[in-house]
Amino acid sequence: MKNKNKIWLSPPHMSGEEISYVNQAFDTNWIAPLGPNVIGFEKDISKLTNAKHVKVLSSGTAAIHLALIMLNVKPNDEVICSSFTFSASANPICYLNAKPIFVDSENETWNMCPNLLEQAIIDRIQKNKKPKAIILVHLYGMPSKMTEIIKISKKYSIPVIEDAAESLGAKYNDKYLGTFGKMGIFSFNGNKIITTSGGGALVTKDKKMSEKALFLSTQSRDKAPHYQHSHIGYNYRMSNVLAGIGRGQIRVLNDRVKARRRIFNYYFKHLSQYSFISFQDELEGFYSNRWLSCIITKSFNMREMIRKKLEFNNIEARPLWKPMHKQPIFKKYPYYGNGVSDDIFNRGLCLPSGSNLSNHDLKRIVKIIKDTIN
Ligand SMILES: *Cc1c(COP(=O)(O)O)cnc(C)c1O
Repeated sequence: MKNKNKIWLSPPHMSGEEISYVNQAFDTNWIAPLGPNVIGFEKDISKLTNAKHVKVLSSGTAAIHLALIMLNVKPNDEVICSSFTFSASANPICYLNAKPIFVDSENETWNMCPNLLEQAIIDRIQKNKKPKAIILVHLYGMPSKMTEIIKISKKYSIPVIEDAAESLGAKYNDKYLGTFGKMGIFSFNGNKIITTSGGGALVTKDKKMSEKALFLSTQSRDKAPHYQHSHIGYNYRMSNVLAGIGRGQIRVLNDRVKARRRIFNYYFKHLSQYSFISFQDELEGFYSNRWLSCIITKSFNMREMIRKKLEFNNIEARPLWKPMHKQPIFKKYPYYGNGVSDDIFNRGLCLPSGSNLSNHDLKRIVKIIKDTIN
């Protein structure tokens, strides 16, 4: 039965060009990690986002880990992190035995609230624990309130690491996300807007930092003919085969952003008539890649009703990220909040948003939702 084909939340969407880059890697025997696709993919990312220096890595999580190491985060240091995010934003803080300090969202963009951020910084400084860094997440492709956040970062001299894992191709005042902070990270995991099946990137304006990221990600080899090490190293570089997939994917990134925005607009057009359904706002000067289209419903019960009805129809929909301050592993850490992310988590649902979602399936999803709430 055609109608019963599974509809995924955000499946990979190949351009068809990937295989030629992968074949090149095979034909030239560049199966070893470094190679022309790695360098080419870095140039592609740089050209597209205007990020000055790019290093592609094995994952977005690895990129956050390296960023924290380069900001000299040590055991017992504190690092501020968006509470409303996927756990990979916060895990690397704990890899370093540092302490995450979670800051809640504001309810327009769903991203870190600038007022709460400043409150948290003032309070930590009063406790003699000035945070070493701010991990700022642009959730579901939506820019955070960058003007306010960067102002606070400068005022207190605390560097921002932009977790743009979900927001490649999104812009704030015409400037690409990932390029505002001291460093930015992207992810090419299987469900992201473009994918290498698994991978990530670290971008920065700071040439020295980028070179250091390369050094750390390739086992920290000193310059010597033998293997010599004066630093702990990591095996975090992207492979030349996977970078080939990335080269084929990034060529169509702009099309993917357009397709996801079109899907969002369809949901908005057909569901915003209900006063009890709301969406993530795109304010003046904000340009989301609409990685995932999400709705906030009236109540937890209504959200569950819709989610289960979709599931019954073989359609994957997922509650929004459960905030970090509510996670069993993270709830012991300090949290500066206002309940916004708890509320959004309880009532929110991510809808299928893949750029290869057909019009037929999109219509079917909307019809099921309408039938459930009417
Ligand atoms: C996917 C994701 C990551 C992690 O990226 P990986 O490449 O899967 O390691 C980090 N932060 C956010 C917000 C993500 O969505």
